[in-house]
Amino acid sequence: MNFNLQRSTQRVWRRLRRPLAYALVHLRRRTLGVVTGVETARPIVALTFDDGPHPDSTSVLLDVLHKYGARATFFMVGAMAQAYPRLVERVALAGHAIGNHTFDHLSLAQLGRRERWRQLYACARAIAPYGARLFRPPFGHLNLSARLDLLCAGYEVVTWNVVIEDWFAADSQAMAARLEEEIKPGSIVLLHDAIYREWAEDGAPHHDRTHLIEAVELTLRRLRFRFHFVTVPDLLRCGTACRRYWHVERSADWKSLRYRW
Ligand SMILES: [Zn+2]
Repeated sequence: MNFNLQRSTQRVWRRLRRPLAYALVHLRRRTLGVVTGVETARPIVALTFDDGPHPDSTSVLLDVLHKYGARATFFMVGAMAQAYPRLVERVALAGHAIGNHTFDHLSLAQLGRRERWRQLYACARAIAPYGARLFRPPFGHLNLSARLDLLCAGYEVVTWNVVIEDWFAADSQAMAARLEEEIKPGSIVLLHDAIYREWAEDGAPHHDRTHLIEAVELTLRRLRFRFHFVTVPDLLRCGTACRRYWHVERSADWKSLRYRW
């Protein structure tokens, strides 16, 4: 009798373990996954600009976006937003979305909980009243503890599925060619309207954003009849969010920066 019971339990377990494992992975991706793009057949794309606002570059970029009727999302560093509130206002009034990128551009994965919350709230205050509940992790760093804090704080964490390493590149034609090649419907593109000083000193040589802005203009000129450039909230409204469990504590090689399950 006991033997039969054991055998039938094993049979049930064998049948259930695969769907259960699948359900757990799915649940983890749904609740803890970050948005990397959107599944959609519509020709829509979200350009995102990190680390600003900066008086040398953000205004020029806003003029370029306006010229082509493009909307974008700016993940601002709180310290910069606090220093240039007029720029924050100008970005918002032009119809772009604004998200949180911490106050001092620090890796949340390397901070204690108290400092992590301080960074989030200080940035949220600096971009108020324009900030959306969107968060872009500095350096792409995110671990489970940081992800849970962001979940509790009500943030949608947004990473990317197109990266052209614009913080190193200096050739606007090459950058535009890569963007043209890699942009697909539903893409979220990582770009920088500034290079925040702390990590500019760390080996990102192209503090000057002129080449990047030229690349954005070339891209918009070439793709304006193929794609609509929208904010991340608008992109999310027009398709199904692609979510990945994103765990990165160091960014040694940006090309191989991948999500861990
Ligand atoms: Zn950044």
